[in-house]
Amino acid sequence: MLKNKILGGLYGQALGDAWGMPAYFDLDDTWQAYGGWIDEFKPGPPDHPVHFGLPAGRITDDSEQAFSLARSFIAHGGVSLAAAVEAIIAWYDRVGGDESPYVGPSTRRGVQALKRGDDPTTTGNWGDTNGAPMRISPVGLLHPGDPVGAIQDTVTTCMPTHNTNVAISGACAVSAAIAIALTDHVSLDTVITAGMLGADLGRQYGRKWLGPSVTRRIKMAIEIAQGPGNELFRLRELYHVIGTSLSVPETVGAAFGVLLMAEGDPKQTAIYAANLSGDADTVGAIACAMAGAYAGINAIDPEIIAQLDADEVFAGYDVPALADGLYDLAV
Ligand SMILES: [Mg+2]
Repeated sequence: MLKNKILGGLYGQALGDAWGMPAYFDLDDTWQAYGGWIDEFKPGPPDHPVHFGLPAGRITDDSEQAFSLARSFIAHGGVSLAAAVEAIIAWYDRVGGDESPYVGPSTRRGVQALKRGDDPTTTGNWGDTNGAPMRISPVGLLHPGDPVGAIQDTVTTCMPTHNTNVAISGACAVSAAIAIALTDHVSLDTVITAGMLGADLGRQYGRKWLGPSVTRRIKMAIEIAQGPGNELFRLRELYHVIGTSLSVPETVGAAFGVLLMAEGDPKQTAIYAANLSGDADTVGAIACAMAGAYAGINAIDPEIIAQLDADEVFAGYDVPALADGLYDLAV
């Protein structure tokens, strides 16, 4: 069962990422371009500012970095600052980070400082964007039923590129929710409550920075998700009130919102995240990693798994082997 949930978390991460990849930044643009819901993997459209030319079912930086972290934790026998640094630099070099449009602002700043030889306990001091939560799922997957352990390892993992209280708070919301999602017979409410607790505890770490409460933003997103109006109306509310920019409280709040709207179903979570637009692949990656850990691999359509497996970038990470390695470290 635990193995199924760990595998579900990793495949969920990829599902939400690749499903959201073709979405436009603006919700109405996405709705218009696809004539309604994005209900299958689609290629990056030619006029997309970042994802043009990508084939249907292709993951992006979110999942590549998460899988790089998982690979590095397995190689190092657990989470450490050295393992986190190695994973992020390895990913950056693999994608040609200096020239790549896929490197976010905090990660670029952090990696460039690391490459100059700066101290990794300070290179993340300016990192406040959503790279922290987007790649943190493996840390949650290493701590079944142990959100406090997940939070400690999240603080370490965020340090080299995202060492601010707002970024760490968002990442801890996700890792704590995933840690609890791995337990048997857990309710979605309990998973979400763990996320809010993680956000609260996480905010005590890192350099004090400006930004609103992730916990409060999750609460607002939950109210919208459970509130009046049809699905599209509630997505519009999430888009305009919670937000889907690179800001951590926005991204993480929105991810919990679509997770709840979809009642934890991985594919429906991906559909909502994609049509939510904005940084849709990141919201989707986070929300579906939580959904996959909660619902397990058997809740993901085998056809979707086959489509992900067929992509060369995804296949290059050997995700089933990563799940085995995380499982061995977790138990
Ligand atoms: Mg991305």
